[in-house]
Amino acid sequence: MTIRVAVNGYGTIGKRVADAVALQPDMKLVGVAKTRPSFEAGRAAAKGFKLYLSGGGALEPFHTAGIPIAGRIEDLVREVDVVVDAAPEKVGRENAKLYKEAGIRAIFQGGEKPDVAEVSFNALANYEAARGKHTVRVVSCNTTGLSRAASVLTSRWPIEYWQATIVRRAADPAESNRGPINGILPTFQLPSHHGPDVRTIFPQLPIATLAVVVPTTLMHVHVNHVQFTTPPRDAAEMLAGFRGTPRFRIFAPWEGVDGTPQVMEFARDRGVGHQDMMENVLWENGVRLDGQNAYFFQAIHQESIVVPENIDAIRAMFDLAPDAAHSIAITDRTLGIPAP
Ligand code: NAD
Repeated sequence: MTIRVAVNGYGTIGKRVADAVALQPDMKLVGVAKTRPSFEAGRAAAKGFKLYLSGGGALEPFHTAGIPIAGRIEDLVREVDVVVDAAPEKVGRENAKLYKEAGIRAIFQGGEKPDVAEVSFNALANYEAARGKHTVRVVSCNTTGLSRAASVLTSRWPIEYWQATIVRRAADPAESNRGPINGILPTFQLPSHHGPDVRTIFPQLPIATLAVVVPTTLMHVHVNHVQFTTPPRDAAEMLAGFRGTPRFRIFAPWEGVDGTPQVMEFARDRGVGHQDMMENVLWENGVRLDGQNAYFFQAIHQESIVVPENIDAIRAMFDLAPDAAHSIAITDRTLGIPAP
């Protein structure tokens, strides 16, 4: 079975998901929808993706730019089984009506409130919950990173308490209108919304999160303190848990990766996706166990971490794989994410 897929909203997330869909053996990218012409629209056309107008966009600017338009989003939704909505946050909820009227399934992103969809999703954590569903929300970049880590930890060692401080990037690299460029901004929501968001996937997880925004565009970093009821034997056992799980990359001290600049330089050298780092990044010397208490850092590439999750969400909704492990294996092989 080949599932026909549309991507509505062709920005940071949408263009990556579209490329990922085009690589899947069991999916066909029918088209992508954009509001206005841009170099990204030009690139989509050059790749042979059919472009549709969306978000009240006008035809004329595309004509002027010489970019062919195949129709409007209302036409595109009639040709597909599922749409991945990657419009700016809160816009997905407005678009939901269109998908419902067209009788097609829809995936929303983490910028939408959880009730936009039947289930919030992370492939490692709750693949089965999305099986057969008509609407799924792929949680945000930070929630995806925390949920992957929670999958590893909660399946092995029961947790008493988890405190995560989220050091958030100020903007994506292509955003020139956001800041700060000098300063550290506390998020005056105490605790931050990330903890409750993780509990849309792990309802019982005793996690509390705080967040600050810092002047960087590369990645987020999570500073974690986990108190276990039954701890791992040692840090090596904990590291082995992460290392043996798909979508984790552990850097060894000899690799010279001091922080996010070297992680993203590694990603540029590797050339996967849009020079992306779709794995949770940990450091061998950034995991420590002290009795019941574990401390670890992880870095999250906000632009790409949710891309494989969108692919697995489609597979779960349409029952295309026997289980999460099979779907993750296909997704990661096609996207170039190394297996554990
Ligand atoms: P973006 O601004 O880079 O891209 C959004 C695209 O949608 C733009 O091309 C915009 O022109 C287009 N658009 C505007 N109005 C539209 C409409 N009515 N219908 C369709 N398209 C419309 O945004 P993004 O960063 O890709 O974020 C998309 C979603 O993914 C949001 O929910 C966001 O919270 C979530 N997300 C973003 C990141 C990130 O770090 N960028 C990470 C994880 C999840």
